Amino acid sequence: MKAAFMYGAGDVRIATVPDPEIRESTDAIVRIVRACVCGSDLHPYHDMGESAEGVPMGHEFLGVIEDIGSDVRTVKKGDLVVAAFAWADGTCEFCLDGLQTSCLHGGFFAAGGVGGGQAEAIRVPQADGTLVVLPVAEDSELLPSLLTLADVYGTGYHAAKQARVTARTTVTVIGDGAVGLMAVLSAKRLGAERIILMGRHTARTDLGIRFGATDVVAERGEEGIAKVLELTGGYGTHTVLEAVGYRAAYDQALGVVRPGGVISRVGVPQYEEAPVGFGSLFGKNVTLTGGPAPVRAYIDELLPDVLSGQVNPGLVFDQTIGLDEVAVGYAAMDDRTALKSLIRF
Ligand SMILES: [Zn+2]
Repeated sequence: MKAAFMYGAGDVRIATVPDPEIRESTDAIVRIVRACVCGSDLHPYHDMGESAEGVPMGHEFLGVIEDIGSDVRTVKKGDLVVAAFAWADGTCEFCLDGLQTSCLHGGFFAAGGVGGGQAEAIRVPQADGTLVVLPVAEDSELLPSLLTLADVYGTGYHAAKQARVTARTTVTVIGDGAVGLMAVLSAKRLGAERIILMGRHTARTDLGIRFGATDVVAERGEEGIAKVLELTGGYGTHTVLEAVGYRAAYDQALGVVRPGGVISRVGVPQYEEAPVGFGSLFGKNVTLTGGPAPVRAYIDELLPDVLSGQVNPGLVFDQTIGLDEVAVGYAAMDDRTALKSLIRF
């Protein structure tokens, strides 16, 4: 089969590799129907060292089950399924807590010997805990929206849930990438009436307004902070959903969070050190939370509104490519000409 591999910064290519096979009795083999490129795939795209054998890419996909191991119970051959980007057994201590990204018997796609989702097929470990059946046909127009349940919608929702967004909380979303826009949609879903989106790409912030943002702040840094404070009577917002991952975004979050508020981070931090003392978190009684989203915990909750068309998170896909063109998708997302690239098979 064909699969995308990264061989170094800026170097993504299609390789021909053996078809995946069942290895454990809890595995399923999925023929991929839709996949996509993630903003987090751009981090290695910027700084990965050269690798002759390459690393598999992609962790967002939906597809049809071709084969299952002897212990798989909740899905069967022929089912159209979506996978959470972290595979998990669904039964351990942490899965039962709704924290599947910490599963004792889980892991991540495109890592640790498990293939990537930017491929014609994939072996899914822990199929029962990882896969969710989608009650639609393989050619459904809902597929792009359903694919967002694999990562970006669930990740935006995690940001909002961890921040305890409700109708009574004001919200700042930092970042107008797909996850930031999904955080806007999620805050709206949880009832927030005031959602300030910080982003400077008009096409994206326009989509953010469609998803529920009430204000857009294009300025960044001190200027952006001043603008948010001005919009909130000088106080800042109760919650800040940080969907970027760079230190500058963290500093921006500190600047716009209201005393007693919550900063919830879902952008993968590209830094290990940042202020936590009196002048930042402590003095304002601010809670810092967030992490890799256990999207599997949210799929059942988010699925009905996607199926009914109540929400249309698939609008984040503004480019559709074939697997052979995957390098085009990376380049377009990297130079910001595409928000998110959908791969059709
Ligand atoms: Zn588990």
